[in-house]
Amino acid sequence: MVRVEDITESILSYNPDANVDIIWKAYVYSAKVHRGQVRLSGEPYLSHPLEVAHILTKLKMDESCVAAGLLHDTIEDTISTSEEIREHFGEEIFSLVDGVTKISKIEFASSEEQQAENYRKMILAMAKDIRVILIKLADRLHNMRTLEYMSGDKREKISRETLDIFAPLANRLGIGWMKLELEDPAFKYLYPDKYKEIMDRVAEKYEERVKFIEEIAIVINKELDKADVKGKVMGRPKHYYSIYKKMIDQSISFDQVFDITGLRIITDTVKDCYSILGIIHSIWKPIHGKIKDYIAMPKANMYQSLHTTVIVPPSNRVEFQIRTEEMHRIAENGIAAHWRYKEVSKKDEKAAKVDERFAWLKHILEWQKDMKDPKEFLETMKIDLFPDEVYVFTPKGKVISFPKGATPIDFAYYIHTDVGDKCVGAKVNRKIVPLKYNLSNGDIIEILTSPAHKPSRDWLKIVKTSRARTKIRNYLKIEEKARSITLGREITEKEIQKYNLSPSEVLKPEALSEAIKTTGFSNEENLFAAIGYGRYHVHQLMMKLIPPEKIEERKKREESRFKKIISRVTKKPEIGSVKIKGVEDFLTRFAMCCNPVPGDKIIGFISRGRGVTIHTADCPNIAELQYDKDRLVTVEWDLKEKTLHKVRINIHTLDKPGILADISASIASQGVNISQADIETTENKEAFLNFSIEISDLDQLQKVINSIKKLKGVLKVERVKEYKKLKRAASGK
Ligand code: MN
Repeated sequence: MVRVEDITESILSYNPDANVDIIWKAYVYSAKVHRGQVRLSGEPYLSHPLEVAHILTKLKMDESCVAAGLLHDTIEDTISTSEEIREHFGEEIFSLVDGVTKISKIEFASSEEQQAENYRKMILAMAKDIRVILIKLADRLHNMRTLEYMSGDKREKISRETLDIFAPLANRLGIGWMKLELEDPAFKYLYPDKYKEIMDRVAEKYEERVKFIEEIAIVINKELDKADVKGKVMGRPKHYYSIYKKMIDQSISFDQVFDITGLRIITDTVKDCYSILGIIHSIWKPIHGKIKDYIAMPKANMYQSLHTTVIVPPSNRVEFQIRTEEMHRIAENGIAAHWRYKEVSKKDEKAAKVDERFAWLKHILEWQKDMKDPKEFLETMKIDLFPDEVYVFTPKGKVISFPKGATPIDFAYYIHTDVGDKCVGAKVNRKIVPLKYNLSNGDIIEILTSPAHKPSRDWLKIVKTSRARTKIRNYLKIEEKARSITLGREITEKEIQKYNLSPSEVLKPEALSEAIKTTGFSNEENLFAAIGYGRYHVHQLMMKLIPPEKIEERKKREESRFKKIISRVTKKPEIGSVKIKGVEDFLTRFAMCCNPVPGDKIIGFISRGRGVTIHTADCPNIAELQYDKDRLVTVEWDLKEKTLHKVRINIHTLDKPGILADISASIASQGVNISQADIETTENKEAFLNFSIEISDLDQLQKVINSIKKLKGVLKVERVKEYKKLKRAASGK
């Protein structure tokens, strides 16, 4: 059993200034709370935290980390509490112990490759401090070493986890020896037959292999001596699980894997590395494409070595790794090899420094993967550029990654489009949360749905994944189109009724599809949708569907209807706003041709039996009435009372959707009513509009006209003083 003195001694060997008091304190505390507990092996429980702490010193961890190793099972397995640990050992050590405790609580449900990767990432994301993962790995390593005492079921579960999660994690952190030490026992318990088979075959070849390596070493050493280059040649032990994995991954036989002999040469300087490479190539023929210079171009985890594979006659392949001592240390210990001990004296500064230290460690993590091709490089870059991911669970324990800030809606759409569309709420860790809740690491998400529910446009503002965004947009688009089709159909049916025809008659399938052929639309739905959106004018469709005589009929009907309106307006005398000089109580009415407005110069014309008609002084009709001068009277505005006057304006515009609405809105914004509107469109996409508006005076009219003129698409606005057919009036005739 490891003693605490072994641990302190080990720390002092790589960090002579280490504060070993804290190690002793942690040891005493751990011994106290674990007292009476026994491991399945029969050893006192304390042996486990001691071993874990010792492994951490092998990784050359700092004293806080080693102390946390001694305490790592206290919160979980003893009467000790978080508060107690924090109080006795401070925030730093507490947060390490707490982090390990949290990771231990993650249930690993699936061993599917992608899942395993998500678990590994989640662990990395959850552990804000990389030391937490190193403690967890040390814990797992000791558990694997003592796995034989466990029951079969547990042994299998732990082995599976180790192979799927922890060994790859150690690999990612670049801790080569730990990866191998985790893998082989896990392999042994999971696949005992395969393990035994490979072990036996390795043993069978053992002597032959040792002999071969010796022969090679002799040849190399001779050449190195000649060139006066130092180098230590050694065989690389083959690990059972890595042999097995190679056989499976590359579908090759044991012999094919085993025929490649791995050798390592360790030398003093980088220059010597290259010299040795040259010497090897001068002895044996290298295999094309197998020479790798990881010295000039280190791997992302800072791994450096020269690799080459050569053919040793008659047909043995030998793979060399050539590196310096320093490179070897990094290859074995990965992240732990980069540890630095620049202790900061002030405690406050320490916390900040710790963060800084781990920032670059995390960076290395992201760059871990061997960048085999540019695509992978870019993907790695992406992770680095957008490092903020969260990992959450489905109720069944599947881990899914999301961008930081993602909401339950993103989660719902990840599960299924239908779940997303019908999502009404969510439970996170069994508690109801709002839909805008931000997912966080380790959350268990459950989506509440309702069959009648529909996605809302507001969701677009809170979702973070493009999948959810696309799905919501799709839904809204389909819904909007459906609405436009209905609307387009309604517009069309109403329009048909204006010709005194029955919509169902006119819209008979044959007739409609015949008409559609000439519109350029592929089907009925698209046509009606376009009418609904206002992209296609219903008038154009009418021209194709309605018989010409019916069109003519409608025109006439409308003209007569128009006349009715005019006469109705005419019949309404507006008394009191004009005064006729010298004459009292004369019946006055405003001429329909010029519609005088207060402010206009006016003149009266005595009509037979209908009183005095008021025209503007410049009304063309007055000019024609000059022959009857006697009946013209001078009148003037009497502005004591404010009355409304109908004025007609002509507007010439481009025929574009929404323009009518814009114009009406701009008239209404001046506080003016529209009493009548007529619209005609032309084939060259222009429109002539004629509005009757109710104006109190000339000033107000000018304001209305100016505001319409400002609108986009309006070509011309003018007041009509002489009623004529619109088109002619507007085209300046
Ligand atoms: Mn433990």
